[in-house]
Amino acid sequence: MWSSWGRPYNIETPLKSFDLTRPITSQFLAIGNRRSYGDSCLITHGQGYDMLHHNHFLEFNPQTGLLKAQAGILFSEILTLCVPKGWFLPVTPGTKWVTLGGAIANDIHGKNHHQVGTIGNFIPRFGLWRPDTGEITCSPTQETDLFRATIGGLGLTGIITWAEIQLIPIQSAHLNVEWLQFSGIDAFLELTKDSQNYPYTVAWLDCSHKTKGNATARGVFIRGTHAVETQNIASLRLIPHTEKSKTIPLDMPSQLLNPLTVSLFNTLYYHKQITAKKQLLQHYDPFFYPLDHLNNWNKLYGKNGFYQYQCVIPFKDGKKHLQEMLNLIANSGFASSLSVLKTFGSIPSPGLLSFPQEGITLCLDFANRGDKTHTLFIQLDAIVLAAKGRLYPAKDATMSPETFKTCYPNWKEFSRYKHPQITSDFWERVTQ
Ligand SMILES: Cc1cc2nc3c(=O)[nH]c(=O)nc-3n(C[C@H](O)[C@H](O)[C@H](O)COP(=O)(O)OP(=O)(O)OC[C@H]3O[C@@H](n4cnc5c(N)ncnc54)[C@H](O)[C@@H]3O)c2cc1C
Repeated sequence: MWSSWGRPYNIETPLKSFDLTRPITSQFLAIGNRRSYGDSCLITHGQGYDMLHHNHFLEFNPQTGLLKAQAGILFSEILTLCVPKGWFLPVTPGTKWVTLGGAIANDIHGKNHHQVGTIGNFIPRFGLWRPDTGEITCSPTQETDLFRATIGGLGLTGIITWAEIQLIPIQSAHLNVEWLQFSGIDAFLELTKDSQNYPYTVAWLDCSHKTKGNATARGVFIRGTHAVETQNIASLRLIPHTEKSKTIPLDMPSQLLNPLTVSLFNTLYYHKQITAKKQLLQHYDPFFYPLDHLNNWNKLYGKNGFYQYQCVIPFKDGKKHLQEMLNLIANSGFASSLSVLKTFGSIPSPGLLSFPQEGITLCLDFANRGDKTHTLFIQLDAIVLAAKGRLYPAKDATMSPETFKTCYPNWKEFSRYKHPQITSDFWERVTQ
């Protein structure tokens, strides 16, 4: 049995390894490293093809930073090869355990969205295998429609076999990082505005704290820049991070993360830095991937798993809608164990179904408490739709077909490029 990161449910049919030379006759879906939280990487009625063995580097130009690799390569593997040569991923999510193909299929965003947009902007070409055509090359000038549909196309247009990715130059494996406490949405937006020149920004949010029934939106704003050689950190230059990760061996009791424990954790975390501002030199690994240091942390939520809820809402009236969502959560009796706030910039995403749009993105983790959690999500969805925002399919396991079609009006155009033999549980659910 296998599932996605949030483990909303299990799939019985074992995964098969993808073999380019064998014809596929059933319904199918390419599966990466299953770091999507919901059901976009799950297929109940059909065959899931595991891409993890397609993980060879094909070409790397150390002068230009252009890398070509098979689509099952993990970001962790790219970092191991490229950081010592002075190159870094142009866009990275909060975990390095994702495949290149999975990252393209969700057109992922990172802490630098406000400056560079999504990963699709750094993919000059890729190979796409479809049962009827075999492998074809897609780029902004070749098979352009399929190129646009496949970036953020949730694996539904074909199997990405290889891709080129343009890396960015770095001079150090470290970043100069600042942590700043804030309280209130205005303070968050102010810090965001003041930090536009920082390549990486993100905020950790304490969703449980409230005053007189209103969520206070207090948190820690984190911003960073790649360190440069002139800062005399030559001895630290490009060495790998050595800190050992820890493992959650078993499913924890599902009540472990309850409103009380979450609130306690949040209070400790908020006050952990003691001063209102802290500066540090940090290796890229803990800066970008703090959760990777606890392997299988998804087991903290117990056997019922958990949901991640991520939305983006436009800046216009964004403060009002965000406050509404935070009030709803703070008064719901549900605790979001990890909450992240960030802004997306105006650089358009290249994909037809890409998630990011300019505005504020909120990301929340909730233990799965069945119908009660779903009811909360329906209320949150209503606020997101009223704000003219959208939900992120990579995280989603519950949005209704109406919500999906409203969030993604391009879905009809996209359907023209979806391959009829390819499907996912997500697609079956949202296009009913
Ligand atoms: C801790 C954590 C932090 C995260 N932070 C972020 C973040 O900051 N920003 C962000 O955008 N996302 C984030 N994510 C989500 C994650 O980046 C995406 O879900 C990513 O797509 C997962 O990649 P994967 O290789 O695990 O693919 P999977 O989850 O296995 O699959 C994802 C999609 O890609 C398709 N796919 C996989 N391989 C191929 C292929 N070769 N060809 C065609 N389609 C394929 C699948 O069919 C599926 O639709 C985070 C996830 C975790 C667990």
